[in-house]
Amino acid sequence: MNHPDFAHWSEQAARWGARYRATLPEQAVRPNIKPGAVLAKLMPSAPEMGEDMAAIFADFERIIAPAMTHWQHPRFFAYFPANSPAPSVIAEQLSASMAAQCMLWQTSPAATELEMCMIDWMRQALGLPDGFKGALHDGASSATLSAILTMRERALGYTGNRTGLSGGPRLRVYCSAEAHSSVMRAIWFSGIGEDNLVPIPIKGPLRGADAGALATLIADDLAAGYTPAGVVINVGATGSGATDPVAEMVAVARRHDLFTHVDAAWAGTAMLCPELRGLWAGIDDVDSLVISGHKWLGAHPGAGLHFVRSPHDLNLALAAHPTYLDTPGQENLVNFSEWGVQLGRPFRALKLWFLLRSYGLEGIRAMVRQHIKWTNELYARLAATPEIEIVTKPILALFTFRLAPKGVDDLNALNLRLIEAINDGGRIYLTQTNIDGKLVLRMQVGSYSTTAADIDIAFDAITETARRVMN
Ligand SMILES: *Cc1c(COP(=O)(O)O)cnc(C)c1O
Repeated sequence: MNHPDFAHWSEQAARWGARYRATLPEQAVRPNIKPGAVLAKLMPSAPEMGEDMAAIFADFERIIAPAMTHWQHPRFFAYFPANSPAPSVIAEQLSASMAAQCMLWQTSPAATELEMCMIDWMRQALGLPDGFKGALHDGASSATLSAILTMRERALGYTGNRTGLSGGPRLRVYCSAEAHSSVMRAIWFSGIGEDNLVPIPIKGPLRGADAGALATLIADDLAAGYTPAGVVINVGATGSGATDPVAEMVAVARRHDLFTHVDAAWAGTAMLCPELRGLWAGIDDVDSLVISGHKWLGAHPGAGLHFVRSPHDLNLALAAHPTYLDTPGQENLVNFSEWGVQLGRPFRALKLWFLLRSYGLEGIRAMVRQHIKWTNELYARLAATPEIEIVTKPILALFTFRLAPKGVDDLNALNLRLIEAINDGGRIYLTQTNIDGKLVLRMQVGSYSTTAADIDIAFDAITETARRVMN
């Protein structure tokens, strides 16, 4: 494709994007299609001869776009949000044109330094202490993996990468069962093993880990000859927003010199608001913290903000130094591939820069506060609705509920039917979770495009569909 055609089709793509966003409120949030329907429309093999962009673009509009779940829809209340407002998209368009590989300072000087700057902007905006440095990962999962690998190596005196784990001490990591599945997977990938991820019992309305029980678990493990390595702390876990007492957990961990990692993938964004920071009191003293910048914050998919107290520990655990990655004559450069598990990395900082500058911190805080207010209003209306049972109260902008009419034996089956019927209806999109054996519906408000009217539609869609599945 020549440069003028590139410009032409880029303009078409931009126009398409603006039209797409404008028409979202009229679309069903989740497409009503059967598995395999898209595959059946695709050519079974790649074409031997190149095709016209007009044909490719038309197929995109015909086959792909209508069969997508619309994450930017104002009534996307499922999972957690994955916001990408227009300024983030524009930054991604620019970054796509440069297509730089940002593994080393010299492969991407501006990207590296903008990334340092964005991490520091966010550090200040979140009220984190001076010493925290960090990097952008594709998501919270890989940041958590980097943290668990660091935790492992630190506990082994940085010998594990060389000797492997067999024959070594049996490491132990602690977290509550509310933790996101990415923690378990990091435990698998790091070779620590699921049997050594010790569950901490939870208590209280925040479903937080019991720090006293953590102290006992560690003492028992030490007595049994295990080697405690670290603690993973939840701030706003996925199911119902479970939040551990950070300060108490860190105090216990510190007594045994354990590494602490906080998963605030979703809730971290709300900590831009000073009045909400009580939720993670004690955060100043953790070793590692991850926030998914592509969730509530709005930095387009692929913006896991990883903050660490000691980049040196992280680099010791993760950095390799083959000659072909050296920068001759330049020591002490920040090479961000040494801060995570990925070598080749895209330019992630640009979308944060565009986002933070165009909304300003006050703009993002106002949105977060609005979401929390709407969540509480909807919670109150549903709580006052007969036959609806609130299962967990709002934590920030998330609560869970279920339909619980008297005389129905299998409430889980009923609520499964409810969620399917709500989502097939297309007006809103919700997902489910399990709370103490109960199948419940999660409601979270977090989209940039949501309005007060969308919250009313959510109430109507839930209550009308509930009446229908009860009959
Ligand atoms: C979404 C989520 C993750 C995973 O985040 P990715 O950025 O998708 O890897 C981890 N922890 C929690 C609590 C989450 O909600």
